Amino acid sequence: MKYVTRGQGIVEIKTGIKGPRIGFVCNVHGNELCGRKAVHRVLKDYEIERGSLLLIDGNQEAALLDRRFVKSDMNRMFTDKQLAKANAKDDLARAQYLASVMPGLKLDQIIDFHSTSSEMKHAFSVCFEEAQHLADMVPVVPISGFKGIVKGTLIEWMIGQGVPSLVVETGEHYSTKAVNIAEQVVLSVLSHYELITLKEPLKQKKRPSFEVFEHVQVRDAESFTLSREYASFDKLSPNELIAHDDNHEYRVPDEKGIYILMPATQANVRKGISPGAYYLMRKV
Ligand SMILES: [Zn+2]
Repeated sequence: MKYVTRGQGIVEIKTGIKGPRIGFVCNVHGNELCGRKAVHRVLKDYEIERGSLLLIDGNQEAALLDRRFVKSDMNRMFTDKQLAKANAKDDLARAQYLASVMPGLKLDQIIDFHSTSSEMKHAFSVCFEEAQHLADMVPVVPISGFKGIVKGTLIEWMIGQGVPSLVVETGEHYSTKAVNIAEQVVLSVLSHYELITLKEPLKQKKRPSFEVFEHVQVRDAESFTLSREYASFDKLSPNELIAHDDNHEYRVPDEKGIYILMPATQANVRKGISPGAYYLMRKV
């Protein structure tokens, strides 16, 4: 195996043998380190046998600070308008750099690892139809319906460049369980494309799948108050009051079988870290 630097924070592990080029993106949010740790574990145990594995350090500066971002969320900056802005600094400068070099890496598949501020009942993937095959291959709950719901993500932009890309949300930022799940994902993808030969078969569990239909935004961060603590995959009651602010009630539609995903914490809303309050989804 040969290690070749392909850009700032981008390393290719090359075999020189014909095969797919698989990219693992880590730290697009700087405090989400599970993917990087998982890839390190796998590289300790396995030789890459063909093709190339590329490691891409998303937001390097934010990762050094162990923060989601330096000034603002890099994973909302992959739009034509933002990428064309002059004199970019901080997170936007990094987004523009990645957008300038990533197409040249000629990746065949991308997994972009993320984690969350609290534990979740299920690890999940953010699945666009162009990456359904990746969602089917990794042992986490697939969630579809995100197209156009979150603007400016790296994976939606890479899909626009013709590269199948999947986000995997592995669990709580600093938990070992999240790294274990990320490791299973890395092993699943690398073995599927025959970059490695598994030492033992992976366990496959049956899992539900969901479709997101709304990303509810915080209207007034200062007075936004959640009715209770919510966790991803909590089942909601029809018309349930999830939160309120001075001028608005945030209610569930009058319908059974609705679930919440990635509810923002009260503290993050108040600090202005989460403009999105939560997602609503149904089982499919
Ligand atoms: Zn993230």
